[in-house]
Amino acid sequence: MHRKKFVEILSILPLSGSMLKLSELNIFKKLSEGPARMPILFLGHGSPMNAIEENEFVKGFRTIAKILPIPKAILCISAHWETKGTFVTAMSKPKTIHDFGGFPKELYNIQYSAPGNPQLASEIKSTIKKTNVGLDNNWGLDHGAWSVIKHLYPKANIPVIQMSLDHSKDAKYHYELSKELNFLRDKGILIIGSGNMVHNLGMVAWDKLNAPEYGYDWCLEARAKMNKYILDNNHGPLINYSLQGKEFQLAIPSPEHYLPLLYVLALKDKNEKTTLFNDKVLAGSLSMTSVLIG
Ligand code: ZN
Repeated sequence: MHRKKFVEILSILPLSGSMLKLSELNIFKKLSEGPARMPILFLGHGSPMNAIEENEFVKGFRTIAKILPIPKAILCISAHWETKGTFVTAMSKPKTIHDFGGFPKELYNIQYSAPGNPQLASEIKSTIKKTNVGLDNNWGLDHGAWSVIKHLYPKANIPVIQMSLDHSKDAKYHYELSKELNFLRDKGILIIGSGNMVHNLGMVAWDKLNAPEYGYDWCLEARAKMNKYILDNNHGPLINYSLQGKEFQLAIPSPEHYLPLLYVLALKDKNEKTTLFNDKVLAGSLSMTSVLIG
């Protein structure tokens, strides 16, 4: 007996200009049938330079945006906002935060002026029971959010708010907390987790930055296992990532770039389709693998 497959991997090939086969994605069907439950995204954001470079990854982001229903607003859980406790940005005009050093001036000149959505922030605060969510008026949009969202919505006309990662909590806590965000999917809110599944900056092969798809053995192994667990809907090992051996320990030396993935997986309905894209490794110790669910 063959179990029906609900999942497939679509690869966006560099240079060939090939695109996702849009007609194969159920989202189109849902669009024609009326308001759909909003899909969810995990985006591998990689280098801040992706904000201004033209490459296969930003093409992948643009392609995905084309097949999504237009969201009413975006909630982004970014690797680059860690706090004690959980906060959501509640200002009406979030500033563009250039939270990196040593990059060209052109990158610091980028302003992504999407509005905030204070009402949505309040709604999240009042709905979440697991913790007391704080309303934040100081943060804004860090590069984990704007460097990718600008490719999805270049006009900056969709309101964006962020939710922080509580650095004092373990992976299971984050996974469970995210389940309380589920109601947003039926309200036209696009939830984006932004990080990188394999992210070991200390082991980057700087001499291989431009080598196509160069990954250390442990990086390739971790990427393959993560992809399989995601596509098999087997979230247990992903939540217990610290028990999965050497490859995972090297892939996730600190949790902040990995945890946004768990927020996204926690929101998946059992039979929803999962699509991987931008599924490439880079510079030995990074993966850009991104996930569309729904
Ligand atoms: Zn990052």
